[in-house]
Amino acid sequence: MENKNLVVGAGFTGAVIARKIAEELDEKVLLIDRRNCAAGNSYDYKDKETGISVHKYGPHIFHTNNKEVWDYLSRFTKWHYFFLKPNAVIEGEKVTLPFNLTTIRELFSPKMADRLEEKLISNYGYGIKVPILKLKENEDEDLKFLAEYIYENVFKNYTTKQWGLKPEEIDPTVTARVPVYISHDNRYFQDKYQGIPLNGYTKLIEKMIDHKNIELKLGVDYKELKEKDFKRIFYTGAIDEFFDYKYGELPYRSLRFDVRTLHKEFYQKTVVTNYPNNYDFTRITEHKYFLDEKSDKTIISVEYPEKFELGKNERYYPISNPENQALYEKYQKEAEKYPNLHFCGRLGGYKYYNMDLAVEKALELFKSLS
Ligand code: FAD
Ligand code: UDP
Repeated sequence: MENKNLVVGAGFTGAVIARKIAEELDEKVLLIDRRNCAAGNSYDYKDKETGISVHKYGPHIFHTNNKEVWDYLSRFTKWHYFFLKPNAVIEGEKVTLPFNLTTIRELFSPKMADRLEEKLISNYGYGIKVPILKLKENEDEDLKFLAEYIYENVFKNYTTKQWGLKPEEIDPTVTARVPVYISHDNRYFQDKYQGIPLNGYTKLIEKMIDHKNIELKLGVDYKELKEKDFKRIFYTGAIDEFFDYKYGELPYRSLRFDVRTLHKEFYQKTVVTNYPNNYDFTRITEHKYFLDEKSDKTIISVEYPEKFELGKNERYYPISNPENQALYEKYQKEAEKYPNLHFCGRLGGYKYYNMDLAVEKALELFKSLS
């Protein structure tokens, strides 16, 4: 058998695995990706006309509490320190998101805001995050009203657009990613480490995979690869595709991005504005804010969720529910027949991983190799 490793997919997961093997085991790695660029869904590029860095596959903000992950990535990039503070348009007004004590003041009269704030703090405590579906269980009349208001204006329609399902019909951890936050902290994330790679995600990944033991081949699909005899294979693509959909297709959500260059300095006041209730899109991202880039023009992308359809669009989100998990596990059982084959990453693991978790899981997988 060849003493060489194959890594399929040059996103965060594939890049970390490839680098660890190349550097620490001093073994050869062939890293392939069917796209013509590295970095997976975190891929960004500098627009030639404006010099603005564009997150091609949607807004990517790195955030983690895991020091090991942060330190590992910091070997390959310096950071632009950045806190995401998005807005949501509610009843035509741009308000603070996540829904917090500031948002309550923006939407309700001072008297009512005082009452709601006091009830939230006495029921849950200051600084506590309450998922909307939990807040809806509260029996207090005022909090019931508030929960219903937030549910109707922030979650119900956004979730229906994003997933084609109501909040109660999807895994509760999905809406719990954006809890009601009993705080005046207006940041979307509270992690200790947050930022955007100073020269972008693509440069970070390119630096990580720049190693004498790593051979990178772009524009190559695993299915086209003639050579299949490897010491280990790490597959970060979709597991159902790998097994030719023998048990059926795993469902995913996809997105369409309408990217526009505008001849004005700014389009909106924040990097991301969510539109829960209006239009068919969910959010608008204005890219120049990520790295505080200056231009008299600006680039926005308008994000339209859609169903994933083979050959039509890309897989962006696994849809977590018991039925899909059972189907994933069937594929995983199949994978266990091949001890040198590892499925990993957001697609290979069929998990709604953020970038930090993709890196954490890749580091763990490397540690587990014998
Ligand atoms: P991917 O980045 O998906 O990489 C997989 C790679 O495998 C792809 O490049 C693909 O082309 C390649 N591939 C697949 N099949 C094959 C094949 N058969 N042959 C060859 N190559 C193949 N995370 C955050 O932490 N913060 C954020 O703000 C954030 N925002 C996001 C916004 C959106 C819209 C989306 C979709 C995701 C966001 N994420 C965010 C999540 C982040 O994109 C993922 O955590 C990360 O990209 C996972 O990396 P990965 O390497 O596992 O997978
Ligand atoms: N969500 C919502 N309204 C919002 C923001 C989020 O209903 O204004 C829900 C929606 O179901 C979404 C989930 O919370 O899919 C997670 O949101 P997040 O911002 O983490 O989504 P991502 O950036 O991963 O697309």
